[in-house]
Amino acid sequence: MASERDSSASRTLSDLVEELLEHEGPLPIFGAGDPVLRMAAQPFDGQLDQGLLARFVAALRATMHATPGVGLAAPQVGVPLRLAVIEDPAPVPEEIRLARARVPQPFRVLVNPSYEGVGAARAAFFEGCLSVPGYQAVVARPVEVRLTAWDERGLPVDEVFRGWPARIVQHETDHLDGTLYLDRAEPRSLSSNWAAAELWGQPTPERAAQELGFTLPG
Ligand code: ZN
Repeated sequence: MASERDSSASRTLSDLVEELLEHEGPLPIFGAGDPVLRMAAQPFDGQLDQGLLARFVAALRATMHATPGVGLAAPQVGVPLRLAVIEDPAPVPEEIRLARARVPQPFRVLVNPSYEGVGAARAAFFEGCLSVPGYQAVVARPVEVRLTAWDERGLPVDEVFRGWPARIVQHETDHLDGTLYLDRAEPRSLSSNWAAAELWGQPTPERAAQELGFTLPG
């Protein structure tokens, strides 16, 4: 019974991805409120064959570039698999790069990722999500995390990420557990993209915290 159910679920996910890839251009992004963003995604165990996985990863990457974003998780395109891509060229001024530790993150595929915080240090910054368009909010997160995952070739990954890349890893892995950044955000920090850019574009969110009335870690 279990194996029958498994194989039927595998066919469904594979068909779903094949259908998605039939269309040209960036994949449509699912927005908050869709249940696919609130469920635990299935661990990847070969539901997509190697060729389909490679095509899906390429489509996720192209969609991430087009939107643009620095990470994209499979549930955000309606596919409940534990799979995400990250990439951040970090085109930011030096002052912001230093304050936020926003160093470039080369393209990576995260298969079945999970993370745990390393040490007690936390950092709070505005972040946004392609599935919650138009808004940003401040999220306090561990500065360092240990990521365990596989890469797209099935090789094990066990690596410590720091600074902004660690934030991206956490945000995307959270998607695979049905968690949105808003679940972890300071509610009073919620800002339109306009406000985030025009009022709270400082390297750190200290002024936003004072004027909007929320607290920062440390
Ligand atoms: Zn997101």
